[in-house]
Amino acid sequence: MMRPSLTERLARQHAERAAAGLARRLRTVDRAEGPWMQREGQRLLAFCNNDYLGLAQHPALVRALQQAADASGVGSGSAHLIGGHRAEHAALEEALAEWTGYERALLFSTGYMANLGVMQALLQRDDLCVQDKLNHACLLDGAQLAGAELKRYPHADVDGAARQLASRPAAGALLATDGVFSMDGDIAPLPALATLCRESGATFMVDDAHGLGVLGTRGEGSVGAAGLGQPEVPVLMATLGKALGCSGAFVAGSGALIDGLLQSARTYIYTTAMPPALAAATLAALRLARDESWRRDKLHALIARFRQGAAQLGLPLMPSPTAIQPLLLGDAQAALAASQALEAAGFLVTAIRPPTVPAGKARLRITLSAAHEETQVDQLLEALSRLPARAVPGRPV
Ligand SMILES: *Cc1c(COP(=O)(O)O)cnc(C)c1O
Repeated sequence: MMRPSLTERLARQHAERAAAGLARRLRTVDRAEGPWMQREGQRLLAFCNNDYLGLAQHPALVRALQQAADASGVGSGSAHLIGGHRAEHAALEEALAEWTGYERALLFSTGYMANLGVMQALLQRDDLCVQDKLNHACLLDGAQLAGAELKRYPHADVDGAARQLASRPAAGALLATDGVFSMDGDIAPLPALATLCRESGATFMVDDAHGLGVLGTRGEGSVGAAGLGQPEVPVLMATLGKALGCSGAFVAGSGALIDGLLQSARTYIYTTAMPPALAAATLAALRLARDESWRRDKLHALIARFRQGAAQLGLPLMPSPTAIQPLLLGDAQAALAASQALEAAGFLVTAIRPPTVPAGKARLRITLSAAHEETQVDQLLEALSRLPARAVPGRPV
């Protein structure tokens, strides 16, 4: 028996993906300035990043980062529980809990790690984890890594979720959903899911990576915007790398939840704490996101403008009230061709293809930011109107 070569197998899989037009390509951005990107000699107006409030390059963040680095250097030196937990981390955790209206918060180095850690800590092998089919990859991975039985319900289908919970009424159960869906931009039916969880005894977890900063009058996110809080959604996770323009993530919950995670979430325990200067910068971002509501107002005005313009052009909009405004184009080649045509016209809009989205649901994932101006949104609409009609299903020819 010949053992298969793992590296050759990987290369073969890559070749197959490439032949199907699905290969991903890594390209280097030489310079970013607001929504502008300089790449391979071309200046592009980006409509694809998650810096929804335009904070990633804000001078207050840069200053906070520099000052904290001047005072205490770059690396935290160790994991939180060893000696890496600094005053900057503690202050950020306290502010995140206060902002979201939760008792406590715990920092993780990335959102991916936060979700893996929470699920591994909460779930045991024979538990049930019920999830929306369109949840982010790391929620699905988290349930699988924890060894729980993963059941996925059709997108936003509360009755479907109820049936899955009812299939094993005696099992420990976690129901997890994105607050705002990362590839569709729509908001989960949070109040109905919260009621279902209360009635069926399941624990409710929301991943609010794309809602924090964007939704709610103070930017507290999709949970607060839905009139819910810690009693209804006892496990809240959100990231610091999207609307806050930094990097990292946190989980908010009761003191008991946070103490439990601190004891047993492996992706918290066995990893280096984020640089304290980054925590300081994130605290500066939080204050701006919370207090400068004009950023949210501007973003929502741009969203309304884009949607109105796209509807007038007959573009295949998806029903999203958030900064994520995908155009559904169908097959992967059409999405790629549209993305390339936009790039030639000076716009950076990535094509999202399977397996990130289901087959036949390839799209342009357009994202808006408070860093954009009205005229730039109009220019994007103009460029979209020039896409060949056959590339855009449903558009009048
Ligand atoms: C981006 C994202 C994550 C992962 O967060 P990172 O900090 O980038 O690892 C998790 N969940 C959702 C819904 C996301 O969009």
